[in-house]
Amino acid sequence: MALFNDQKISLRWRRTKIIATIGPATDSVKGVDELIKAGVNVFRLNMSHGDHVYHRRVFNRIRRCAKKANAIVAILMDLCGPKIRVGLFENGRIDLKRNARVIISCGSGVGREGLIISQYKHLYKDVKAGERILLDDGNMECRVEEVKGKEVLCKVVYGGVLKNNKGMNLPDSTVSAASFTSKDKEDVLLAMELGADFIALSFVRSAKDILALKKHMQKTGRELPVIAKIEKPEAVKNIDEIIDTAYGIMIARGDLGIELPAEEVPLIQKEIINKARARNSPVIVATQMMESMIVNARPTRAEVGDVANAAMSSADAVMLSAETAAGKYPVKAVRMMDRVLREIERYQWEKESFGDSIGKGHEPTSSRRAIAHAANTLAKELKLQGILVPTRSGNTATVLSSCRPSSPLLGISACDETCRKLALHWGIIPFLTKKQKVRDWKVLSQDISERCQLTKTGNKVLLVSGFNEDASLNEPVLKIIKVKT
Ligand code: PGA
Ligand code: MN
Repeated sequence: MALFNDQKISLRWRRTKIIATIGPATDSVKGVDELIKAGVNVFRLNMSHGDHVYHRRVFNRIRRCAKKANAIVAILMDLCGPKIRVGLFENGRIDLKRNARVIISCGSGVGREGLIISQYKHLYKDVKAGERILLDDGNMECRVEEVKGKEVLCKVVYGGVLKNNKGMNLPDSTVSAASFTSKDKEDVLLAMELGADFIALSFVRSAKDILALKKHMQKTGRELPVIAKIEKPEAVKNIDEIIDTAYGIMIARGDLGIELPAEEVPLIQKEIINKARARNSPVIVATQMMESMIVNARPTRAEVGDVANAAMSSADAVMLSAETAAGKYPVKAVRMMDRVLREIERYQWEKESFGDSIGKGHEPTSSRRAIAHAANTLAKELKLQGILVPTRSGNTATVLSSCRPSSPLLGISACDETCRKLALHWGIIPFLTKKQKVRDWKVLSQDISERCQLTKTGNKVLLVSGFNEDASLNEPVLKIIKVKT
């Protein structure tokens, strides 16, 4: 039996956040409006597709739509990194037939039946006869027969329809490309100019890759929080230093499951979620979560199970890629995901088991974590209706989030950037408020409680404050405040 008396209030908010990738299926004003309404917390702009004119337009559109809807949604700009991709085709796609010959050319131009243009111009140097080239998240496979000048001659092993800009993986080859590419450098400048909330780096191999990106940002302006995409075996090996260097982690299962045997991915996912949580870093589970909804109005039961599993392991966020970018049912996919997450969260709330999945050896040790746990316990046992966290940088709220409290967690800030950053974190409901209000806790608690209808006779909330980015400056305060009806 749950300790809370008000399940309705507590479960009004979904804890696990939803990230939706924007693309041709959703980049209109109507598309963005509908996704926000369906509950998207973070939009991903994938820099692998579209030019700067496009991304600028969509970025500003998202900001405008969010404002109109009075919603706090963040924007994550995802850098391609050394992701190897095919170029464009005359007709947007080609048909790869089993056993047919196909040329992958490192020159310029447009592809057609029998000819694929590689965006990676050194491909011919990195591959050898006998090696595999996988296409479109491994859906198609070619084997290299011969390298002739800048052309790689291949035989199709598993065919299919190959569309513009789809990914290529070389699991048998050593790729010589740098992790932070010249295209990334230009894309970061755009992200900084537009004021993106997060920047994701693909194909991270070690902390060094993230440091290179950070250095580049420091040279040109304000550093954006970096999400490291884990999609290389090297990154799995170096996961500790990567978590310590990046702001957050994305388990990019699309490429990870090709670069490594797919059966290794589920346990890697579980381990990384636990490690990231223990270090207070947000962690995203990405790719193929509702894959079949690209063409069907209903997900497969296995997909529902996958989303449920991510929520049960207490990931901060789950992500949709082609489902929302190019699928037939983008809004339905978000709604479905929302429903699955809420169902799991209802169960976890009733069993008081939010965040229970954290394994041995990952228990928190810092004083901040101890305070966060105390806050969680207080809120639970005293039936407090919510935990209110006034926060400037977002730090106090994210520490509390990583303990996965059962009560609604309201992250309150006068800074809209902070509020958007909090949109990614598990359970945090970001609230933008006026500066003067943050100073007076009683007024603030009353105001926020009214805005989210926590005010019933006798209701109390817990206010937590005082964590600093520099732990030696922490002066934590836990205050129980009675709110008026
Ligand atoms: P991508 O990254 O969609 O940019 O490839 C996600 C993944 O690889 O899973
Ligand atoms: Mn990827």
